[in-house]
Amino acid sequence: MNATVELARELIGRPSVTPEDAGCQTRIAERLASKGFQPEWLPSNGVTNLWLRRGRQEPLFCFLGHTDVVPSGPESAWDHPPFQPIVEDGYLFGRGAADMKGSVAAFVVAAERFVEAFPEHRGSIALLLTSDEEGPAVDGTRHVVKHLTQRGDAIEYCLVGEPSSQDRLGDEYKVGRRGSLTGFLTVHGEQGHVAYPHLADNPVHRATAALAELIATEWDQGDADFPPTSFQIVNLQAGTGADNVIPGNLEVVFNFRYAPAVSAELLQQRVSNLLEGHGLSHTLRWRHSGGPFATRSGALIQAVEAAVTERTGCRPRRSTSGGTSDGRFMGPTGAEIVELGPLNATIHKANERVAVADLETLEALYFDILHRLLAQ
Ligand SMILES: [Zn+2]
Repeated sequence: MNATVELARELIGRPSVTPEDAGCQTRIAERLASKGFQPEWLPSNGVTNLWLRRGRQEPLFCFLGHTDVVPSGPESAWDHPPFQPIVEDGYLFGRGAADMKGSVAAFVVAAERFVEAFPEHRGSIALLLTSDEEGPAVDGTRHVVKHLTQRGDAIEYCLVGEPSSQDRLGDEYKVGRRGSLTGFLTVHGEQGHVAYPHLADNPVHRATAALAELIATEWDQGDADFPPTSFQIVNLQAGTGADNVIPGNLEVVFNFRYAPAVSAELLQQRVSNLLEGHGLSHTLRWRHSGGPFATRSGALIQAVEAAVTERTGCRPRRSTSGGTSDGRFMGPTGAEIVELGPLNATIHKANERVAVADLETLEALYFDILHRLLAQ
């Protein structure tokens, strides 16, 4: 059996639900240590993080991935037990097959093959693996990147193995992601008897016009790579449960997915101005879970597009869609970042799977990309 498929099976067999790693990274460290990669463990609050590097020169190329997986959900929804990998009808089944133990296995085998073929390659090759991508993502990639930045390890090229493909392997890859900003708004009123509204102050009535204006606002127009910024209310709560009480407060939670055309600070300012303009008595708290990042040009994009076009016969589409990824922690370092991985159709679902042929092609693509950037 193909080495990538073999390793992916081994990793799937380890039930590493976030923040568990279940020995996946130890296994990878052992394999790559024998190929000249230096393992460095950077655990944080129960999260397992591994930095593996071969070479001291620049440019530094980094494969970024995670060994944790989301829970399987009820096993009865699966045709096979989620942590007992099985190959059937040309597919490898199991939790993490596509997100993203398949890609991690392809990284490892491509790196092994590359350093065997080019032991004197230029630059350095690294793998950054975490067991905290699917969870809070506080003690994983963010922690490692902070550590690397502090000691001056500058990553030039970063390839994230998240499942980026839609219908065919390599039909789409990501050159950035939008930022995510959440607002927690409380509109204050005064509780009272519904029959005596003049003795109360209804925060729902007060807030309605402001919320309608927030919903109707055009925040920016996006750009060639990014759709316009979106504003969505995700939670709205008021009331005591009784039909004769005017509520005292209205709680609203909303989220921006924003493009680089605006900044988190600008969005916060515009929301505050709008609420002030409506004269709302309110409190507002923010959570910024990641800024946008975008790689518009450069050697990594060229290498990815050339490798995919040559191997699959089709030029990949550039995309910035989807939620955030761990690429957001790499973004501020100035690295060129792309995400290229298998089909995303079954990720986080029951019967998650990846085509065996796609895993083999993915390994070849990763090898080709290393070859284009680092072969002597
Ligand atoms: Zn993932």
